[in-house]
Amino acid sequence: MTTKVTRDRLFFAFEPMLIPAIHVAQGEDVVLETHDCFEGQIQTPFDLIDKLDWNHVNPATGPVYIEGTKPGDILRVDLLEVKIGQQSSMVTIPGEGVLGDVITKMETTILKLENDHLVFKDKIRIPKKPMIGVIGVAPSSGSVPNGTPGPHGGNMDCTLMCEGNSVYFTVGVEGALFGAGDFHAAMGDGEIVVCGAETSGELHFQAQVVEMKGLPTPFVESPELIATIYSAFTIDEASNGAVHRMAQFLTEFVKIPLNDAGMLMSLVGQLKFCQVVDPLKTVRFEFPKWILAEYGFSL
Ligand code: CA
Ligand code: ZN
Repeated sequence: MTTKVTRDRLFFAFEPMLIPAIHVAQGEDVVLETHDCFEGQIQTPFDLIDKLDWNHVNPATGPVYIEGTKPGDILRVDLLEVKIGQQSSMVTIPGEGVLGDVITKMETTILKLENDHLVFKDKIRIPKKPMIGVIGVAPSSGSVPNGTPGPHGGNMDCTLMCEGNSVYFTVGVEGALFGAGDFHAAMGDGEIVVCGAETSGELHFQAQVVEMKGLPTPFVESPELIATIYSAFTIDEASNGAVHRMAQFLTEFVKIPLNDAGMLMSLVGQLKFCQVVDPLKTVRFEFPKWILAEYGFSL
C-alpha cells in the first residue's frame, strides 16, 4: 500500500516547527505530489515572471514525519520513481542568472512533453531527464526558505536527484520532516538562467535510517557513483567544501589513506556544478563506486 501526500500540503521553508502533513514508518512507500516552483502560476507564454506572487514560489510538499528518526541519524531516501507533468515552463529574468547582465527581455516559454521528449520552440526535441530541485529535511534550528540550499538539502538543483538514486541527509529534528518540490523535466548543470524545465510531479520514495553516523551530507548515490554536495557564497568555497567532504568520506568510511584518496580523486573524480545562480552556489564531487568496492566497501 502506498501513502500519498497531495500537492495542497505545502510549505515554504524547512524549519523545526513545521506541522507534519503525514506520519509514515521507515521503509513505507510514500508518494508526494508536487507543484512546480511557481505553484502553477505560469501556464502560458503570456504568464510573465513580473506577474508572479513571490509568496507562492518554491513550494515543497510535506513535510513527512518519519517515525523513529532522531537528530544526528543518517536518513537514506530512495528515489524510486520521479514523474513529471505534461508540460513545463521556462523563463528569462533580466538581471538574474549568469546571463542576467545581457538578457533584457522577459520571456516565458512552455515545453510540452511528447513521447518522453520536451518540445522546445516547436523544433528542438530534448529527451526528458526528470530531477528534483528542492529536497531536504528540517534543520535543527532556524528557518531555511525553500529557495536556499544548505547542509539540510533544500534548493540544491542537483541533477543527481533523480529516479533510481538515493540521497542521504543528517536528521535535524525528531521525525526528520522530509519534503520535496521544484521538479525539472530536464536541467543542465549550472542552471544558467535560474530555471530548468519547471514542472509539477510525483515522487515515490522510501526513507530509512542507516548506520552511517557522521556521513558528510547531503550525499547522493547512483548505481555508478557517489557524490558529496556543498553550498557556499562562492563557487571556490563550494568546490573546496565538496572536495574536502569526499576526502573525509573516503578516508573515514572507506579507510583509504589520505594521499591515495587525493590521488584517486584527482584521477577519476569529477567536480561538477549543480547551480551557480543562487546567492549560495552548489557544487558536487562525484566518485565512482567500483573503486569503493576494490577497497571492500559498499553502501
Ligand atoms: Ca530550484
Ligand atoms: Zn526549479
